Amino acid sequence: MASTVPLSYSSYHTYAECPLRWKFLYVDRLPETPRGYFTFGRVIHTVLEDLVRPLLVPGARRLAAGDAQRTLDEWHSKGAEPSAVRPITSEELLAAYDRAWLSEGYASPEEEARYKALGRDLLLRYYRQFVKEPPRPVAVEEHLEARWDGIPIHGYIDRIDRTDDGGLEIVDYKTSRELSGEDARSSEQLSIYQVLVENNYTEPVEGLTLYHLRSLTPHRVPPRPREALAALHDRLGTVVDGIRTEAFEPTPGRHCGRCDFQSRCPEFRAVPGTDEARLAQLVDRFDALRQQEQQVGEELRRTADELHRAAEQFGVHRIPGSSRVALRRREESWQYSPETLRPLLESAGIQDRVVNADPEQVRSVLRDPSVDPEVRRRLAEAGARKVKWYWDLEDA
Ligand code: SF4
Repeated sequence: MASTVPLSYSSYHTYAECPLRWKFLYVDRLPETPRGYFTFGRVIHTVLEDLVRPLLVPGARRLAAGDAQRTLDEWHSKGAEPSAVRPITSEELLAAYDRAWLSEGYASPEEEARYKALGRDLLLRYYRQFVKEPPRPVAVEEHLEARWDGIPIHGYIDRIDRTDDGGLEIVDYKTSRELSGEDARSSEQLSIYQVLVENNYTEPVEGLTLYHLRSLTPHRVPPRPREALAALHDRLGTVVDGIRTEAFEPTPGRHCGRCDFQSRCPEFRAVPGTDEARLAQLVDRFDALRQQEQQVGEELRRTADELHRAAEQFGVHRIPGSSRVALRRREESWQYSPETLRPLLESAGIQDRVVNADPEQVRSVLRDPSVDPEVRRRLAEAGARKVKWYWDLEDA
């Protein structure tokens, strides 16, 4: 049974992509196969935490029940000072990297070695830039929770920095191969982090950054406007409703390629061998009937058209067959355009009597003697008549 647990960005994104995969992960708690690039990302994040943590400066937090030292005033009154602003040395950084290294998920020792060398290079290049222009971090790898207009959310934020103006900048590291400014502009993850920080800090969020570690490029964008956050809140609400009502339909797409649960998914699961032949026959039969159905439908239309042409040529509505008689029937309907109707109805003050140009409602107005005859005449003229002929069969 799925309950409404706080949504992380990852959980929200997983459900939005495929609700069934969300169920496998968050309800059934099925494990996923470790993948090297995820392990690599985790290790780099751990080492960067070691690098950044000594530089932490306090940020003004919103007070929470039972929470000590939540405001800058409190922090200063305790006589505390920021940690000595001395980052670890590059040797210490690499030693931390060796300690943090994990081997799980790599396809081969060669792949692991390639990633290890990549991480070493990436960390050393980042380190050189970091010591030249050290940030003023307020928090690192911080877990934040909030109730966003009724929706519980949470997330781990890589880094929150103090800006020169005294505000806050949210930084999320990315180890991916490619990253663009558009990724930062459209990132829902950054939007959720903005809401989390706004709900937990008194200082304003002034910037959102996706930091591309491979190219040492910070993609910085302004905080999201309220309308964008409101739209995201709606999308989160839809996901929460889906989880609450246990709507867990599979939603196949390109993402299936990296899903570990294909063998459990109705979209991919194979038919049991014992029933394979029987079901294959059923599918073939269904396929053949569908094709026949189409052929019969086309043949039916052609025959009816030929009969209509004969009926018009000979001026008859009854054409006998050998056992039944074909009867030509007429069906008439009226259509009105809302643009033509509106001014007419408004001029008579009866616009509430016809909704969506409903022909039945127009007919009721046409029959109503209390409506001005001139209005009724113009209403009648505003309609377009559609006539449809069709055939019935009856016993001879
Ligand atoms: S295989 Fe595709 S459709 Fe099936 S659960 Fe996984 S992501 Fe969803």
